[in-house]
Order: sequence, then C-alpha cells, then structure tokens
Amino acid sequence: MTTAEKRAELLPGGYGRSSFFVGKPPPRAVAGEGYLLRDETGAELIDVHNNFSVLLHGHAHPEITAAAVAAARRGACFGLPNAGELEHAEALLARVPWAQQVRYTNSGTEAVMTAVRVARAVTGRDRIVVLSPAYHGTADPVLVSSAATRGVPAGTLADVLTVAPDDVPGLRATVAEHGSQLAAIVLDLVPARAGNRPLEAGFVAAAQMLAADCGALLVVDEVISFRHGLGGVALSLYDLEPDLLVVGKLIGGGFPVGAVLGRAETMRVLDPAAPDALLHGGTFTANPVTMSAGRAALDLYDEAAVARLEALGARAQERLGAVARAHGWDVVGHGSVVRLAPQADDDAARTRLWWEAYRDGVLLSPSGVLSLSTPMDDGVVDEIAARLDASLERLSG
Ligand code: PMP
Repeated sequence: MTTAEKRAELLPGGYGRSSFFVGKPPPRAVAGEGYLLRDETGAELIDVHNNFSVLLHGHAHPEITAAAVAAARRGACFGLPNAGELEHAEALLARVPWAQQVRYTNSGTEAVMTAVRVARAVTGRDRIVVLSPAYHGTADPVLVSSAATRGVPAGTLADVLTVAPDDVPGLRATVAEHGSQLAAIVLDLVPARAGNRPLEAGFVAAAQMLAADCGALLVVDEVISFRHGLGGVALSLYDLEPDLLVVGKLIGGGFPVGAVLGRAETMRVLDPAAPDALLHGGTFTANPVTMSAGRAALDLYDEAAVARLEALGARAQERLGAVARAHGWDVVGHGSVVRLAPQADDDAARTRLWWEAYRDGVLLSPSGVLSLSTPMDDGVVDEIAARLDASLERLSG
C-alpha cells in the first residue's frame, strides 16, 4: 500500500463527504486564488466546481479574505451575540424585501431542517410535500427527495409525500388527499437533480395557491439558486413571496452557513421569549467570521455583478452546448450554473468525464455541474470549453 493509499484509509472510502465521490480517491486541494486551484501534486486547474457553487467570487477574494481575517483577529466566536450578525442580516434582508427576519444556521441542511420545523410548529401539522428528484441536504425529513433514505426512520418517511417537478395534477391530487395534514410544500425552484432548469411558472403558482388554500406554508429552498438574482429566482423569475426562504452557500463568503428568512409573524416561533417557542441552537451559528466574510461576499454581488455573471453563464451554455453536442452529450442548466449530461443517464460516464477534465486542468463537480465565479471572464469560459472539448474527444475516442 502506498503512503497515499494508507492515508486515504483514515476516512471512510477515502472521502470526507459522500456528496463528492469520483471513485478512487482524488488528489487533494492545497490552495486557490481567483478561479485557479492547486492540488497536492502541484497541478493547477480552472476551478469551475467552486465547492458546489459556494465560491461565487472564487478562491481567496482579497476583500472577503480581509473581512474574514479581521473578524478572526477580533475573536473566532463569542457567547454574546455579535454585531456582525446584524450587519449581515441588514444586507441579506435588503435583497428580499418581503422577509422581515432571518435566523442563521451552519449549513443549508440545518436551515432546511429548521424551516420544516418552523412550518410544523406554526401549523401544528406533521406532513410535508417535497419534490423528487431534488436535493435539500441531508436532514431526515427531506432525504426522500434525493431517494437516499437509508437510516431515516419509517415514521419520518411516513410524513413525507413526494411529487415530481412540474407535475401539477400530481400536486393537486396529493393536496386534495392530505391537505388538512400538510405543514409545508417545499420547493427548490431550480432543482439540481432534475437538470438545473427552473420549474414551470404554472407549477410554482399552483404550489403557492394550493399551500395557501390548505393552510400549509410554502418553503422555498434557494441554497443554490439565490445567485441567479439579487434576491434569488423567487423574486427575479417568479415574483414569488413564499412563507419561508432558505438560503446558504454564497451568503457565507466560503464559510459554513445557512439561513431561514420569513415574515415576523412566521418567524415568531423562533423568538426565545415566545410562550410556544421552538428550540433552535447552534454553538457556531452566526459566527463572526462567517458573518463578516458573507457580508463582504454579498456586497460584492450587486445588481451589476449578478447581471454580468448571468450573461457569462449564457455564453457558457452556448459554448459548452456546442462542444457537448458534438460529442453526444447535452448541456442543461440555468444562468451561471451549467450541467454537462450524458444523453442517457450514466454515472460511470460522468465519473470518466470528471477524471478526463481533471487531466485537462478543469475541476468539475462529480455530477458534471459547472458553477461560474465572478473572477472569470469570456476568455476563461472559452478556455474551459476548449479544454472540455479535448476531454470529451478522448472520452468518445
Ligand atoms: N438545499 C439545496 C438546494 C442544496 O443544493 C444544498 C447543498 N448542495 C442544500 C440544501 C444543503 O446545503 P449544505 O450542503 O450546506 O448542508
């Protein structure tokens, strides 16, 4: 056994999370700057994975790094609520005018879990509707949406109903049968597992109406899609004001984060002084480093930056689309999130592409998703397309 193989045995399967898996253990990252990433072998790659889209501004952005370092110098975390939390909340809530309050968590998973619990507490009901396929992190109540329910108690599963994306009749039938027991309808408006394409407006409108009619809350998860508009796609694509909005990833500037946003009347159950308050903890919640780095990341992503990145996404969809189709692959996605997909669903082909792209100096997500970052420009997008052309050529050759 080589030293590298022995070291990989320190982690189950050689990995620290199951959501990143490309077969044999991959090289490990050591540093990054802008859109470039260096691995332990010294190879330099264009990073278009960006840690599942978190790194909206690429690696070690000077302003975000300065904000994080300054916060860490003042103290890593405090028991007393910190001032940075309010500064972040001001910037975040300004982008989502219908929401009045925010509660932070340490991940999108925790934020989804908290939103579902709030919905259950507010309605006094247990059941929820989720889309499948979709992905909302790894909290028990939503694992059904990614069809990965091992370890989830049967009692939890019994309270979760699934509907396929854009299946209006299916949603209507589910609400007709179970409406009086429903706490929430949970939507990712651009579900990754369903091809990173926005849901049809008619389906979203039906979900909003059906939730309101039966007294359930509409919970929208924009952990990924928040980047597509100043206040996410709920506002920019659908003019939708849900009951609860879940965000994460980019709002932490690269540090662990999640958040639940809502109107004061809904968020009231999180008020520790409320007689019927639910318990929400988190030793690291709203920690000052995340709050400062996240505030800097949000400030850098103003209306002009959103428009620029979405335009760059359109160029990527076009360039990569041409390359992919020439090799029998498809390109799906929305704006700055692009997915290369084999024409027949094929995990092995996606893994082979991941390794070929790596050889050509492009870091993809294991499922073939590219998330652009603001340090990129037209030239970088064209370079990615040229490199992936070579990767796909070898794959099909
Ligand atoms: N919701 C969505 C839509 C996501 O894409 C993700 C993560 N990719 C999550 C929730 C979970 O977030 P986290 O990985 O921070 O727990």
